[in-house]
Amino acid sequence: MRIDILTLFPEMFESFLTTSILGRAVEKGLVSIKVHNIRDFADNKHKQADDYPYGGGAGMVLMPQPLSDCIKHVLSQYREKTYEKKTKIIYLSPQGQVLSQQMARELSKEPSLILICGHYEGIDQRIIDRYVDMEVSIGDYVLTGGEIPAMVLIDCVTRLIPGVLGSQESILEESHTAGLLEYPQYTRPAVYDGDEVPQVLLSGDHERIKRWRRQQSLKNTLKKRPDMLKKASLTEEDYKFLKELKDSE
Ligand code: SAM
Repeated sequence: MRIDILTLFPEMFESFLTTSILGRAVEKGLVSIKVHNIRDFADNKHKQADDYPYGGGAGMVLMPQPLSDCIKHVLSQYREKTYEKKTKIIYLSPQGQVLSQQMARELSKEPSLILICGHYEGIDQRIIDRYVDMEVSIGDYVLTGGEIPAMVLIDCVTRLIPGVLGSQESILEESHTAGLLEYPQYTRPAVYDGDEVPQVLLSGDHERIKRWRRQQSLKNTLKKRPDMLKKASLTEEDYKFLKELKDSE
């Protein structure tokens, strides 16, 4: 996958793109990420990329010319690679569709993404009307810029690309993948400060461990996010366990 980030603050991405799992994915060539400074495309003497909003009001708005030229520059690079038509242009915005695991799964199948990070009061509406395929929000709150939302999107999308995580199994069982929250995790030592790891995890009995984890997953979801149970695909055994849990409360 190729991802192009359009921002006024490229330096914010430096450590993000070179650290941990994402850093290794970039190194291995599983994902190619390019950061473009919108200001470099401003055609005025002072490289100004924002201006006052028409109609008055507080703050500044990213001007259409630098952003449009930056997008065209990226698309011209894509054209050489022949997948321009399939490129999804995303504007990170508090007005967008809220990011979910399902959306991340769908985006992870795209060959390329262009991410526009707004700042100040946002970007000129004409850019959204002309280029943007999708507006994505990371939640119902307002941040100062789209850089952190872009990092959130890149992190949750790229870890779903085959080969990025050491084991694909961890994706299958983790929270939000199958409509449930994950079971509790433990690591060594088996006894820490008097607190023991549940015995079943030390038993080596894979069937019992699997059943225990499924039940803990149901228990966790019932306790923390009961709303998720309505949409989860549950078996007869799951319903029975949940009923027993509720009856015992
Ligand atoms: N005036 C805009 C509004 O009310 O919709 C908010 C602008 S916000 C201060 C500046 C930039 O931060 C936005 O252009 C967007 O790129 C980014 N941003 C802020 N909150 C966000 C969120 N929840 N999700 C995604 N991007 C966000």
